[in-house]
Amino acid sequence: MSKVENVKCLIIGSGPAGYTAAIYAARADMHPVMYQGMQPGGQLTTTNEVENFPGYPDGVTGPEMMIQLEAQAKRFETDVRFGFITKVDFSGDIHKCWADDGTEIHAETVIISTGASAKYLGLESEQKYLEMGGGVSACAVCDGFFYRGQETVIVGAGDSACEEAHYLSKLCTKVTMLVRKNEFRASKIMAERVQNTPNIEILYNTNTVEVLGDDQGVTGALVKNSETGVETTIPCTGFFVAIGHKPNTDIFKDYINLDEVGYIKYEKPGTSLTNVPGVFVAGDAADKTYRQAITAAGTGCMAALDAERYLAAKGH
Ligand code: NDP
Repeated sequence: MSKVENVKCLIIGSGPAGYTAAIYAARADMHPVMYQGMQPGGQLTTTNEVENFPGYPDGVTGPEMMIQLEAQAKRFETDVRFGFITKVDFSGDIHKCWADDGTEIHAETVIISTGASAKYLGLESEQKYLEMGGGVSACAVCDGFFYRGQETVIVGAGDSACEEAHYLSKLCTKVTMLVRKNEFRASKIMAERVQNTPNIEILYNTNTVEVLGDDQGVTGALVKNSETGVETTIPCTGFFVAIGHKPNTDIFKDYINLDEVGYIKYEKPGTSLTNVPGVFVAGDAADKTYRQAITAAGTGCMAALDAERYLAAKGH
């Protein structure tokens, strides 16, 4: 039989949004319980140097920052748990959530801070080498090191792709960037940086047909120019994908209003309210525009304050 636990505030997800919500909720005596999710610390744990978070004049690594945020949340006695929520029922006044360890949580307020995950092309060969751990990755900062002195390919034309291509160019002998249109989506400054890096070759109008490899891992990429129809094989041992993210909101879709991509819709702009009273959202799960650690932290603070006000209005 599952264990039932009553909590005032359940926080789902442990990126900057979740930890900031935890710090505020804990200091407001809401005794928050946090389930960290599949990737404790969130996307920042796959980031190297964070130079744009105010308060760190010399920069900080993503993992280091998340350790500090966790310590700060625990200092005020947030109950931080390693595990994830598998199912929710937001149909009643009390919000029911089930954790992977079998715990059934009855929460007066829920803060969703589940973030977003990397997207892949969806090719069978890509998935095969991804699962094998044999050369496909969506995080250059995490895995680039394995391809030092080798040739890599990166797909995408946004800021992430540019940032990752540039990162790889410092480790790899050559980086081939596959841009599906004839232009970048990235900001001018980021695009220019890759255009001016000698060991990055940019192939425009180019799509991936197949990730090539053997039983050891990736050996190349078969690509096709959409203008000429010409197919080319690019030798590489690492195939990186940087084509955007998908919000981690599937388990909420029966109760929470989502947009066509899956981002949670705010019930009231300028707040953290969702369409379900007592359920709030913070961070990338609802943000397709800014997606920064500092904006996630800001909305985490908003969610905790909104949750506190919701409880106060109910006389708690
Ligand atoms: P974006 O959604 O901005 O870009 C995704 C890119 O992937 C686009 O160029 C898109 O191509 C391409 N793409 C999508 N699907 C495919 C596919 N199936 N095959 C090939 N290419 C594909 O995502 P990012 O992750 O780059 O950025 C997300 C947000 O984070 C942005 O707002 C960005 O500005 C921000 N960011 C900022 C950074 C910074 O300032 N330091 C660093 C990283 C991100 P197309 O253009 O043809 O649609």
